Amino acid sequence: MTSKSGMELVESIEDGLGSIQRAFDTYQNEFFIARPPEFFALELCGEAGELANLEKKRWRGQTISDQDTADEAADVLISLMNFANARGINLTQAVVDKLARIPHSKS
Ligand SMILES: [Mg+2]
Repeated sequence: MTSKSGMELVESIEDGLGSIQRAFDTYQNEFFIARPPEFFALELCGEAGELANLEKKRWRGQTISDQDTADEAADVLISLMNFANARGINLTQAVVDKLARIPHSKS
């Protein structure tokens, strides 16, 4: 990642994502029973499906509340955090590594 915006992105991830992920883990362990990563993977797919369904309806011309869409986006993030924690994935490292492998072009 050699571009200025890319380096800033990596710095932001390295500065903040780890503490966010750990805080989700602490919160989840304090208030909810332990679940295996498979549970959270399925939950993540379900939440992503709910978000996609709202976008499908919006695309078809239905009125969808921005709050409902934001709620589903939040559900996706929460379930991703829970999955990564249950599976032992360091999201900071995973995202930084992945960004380094994604080709950079607008094509
Ligand atoms: Mg939901």
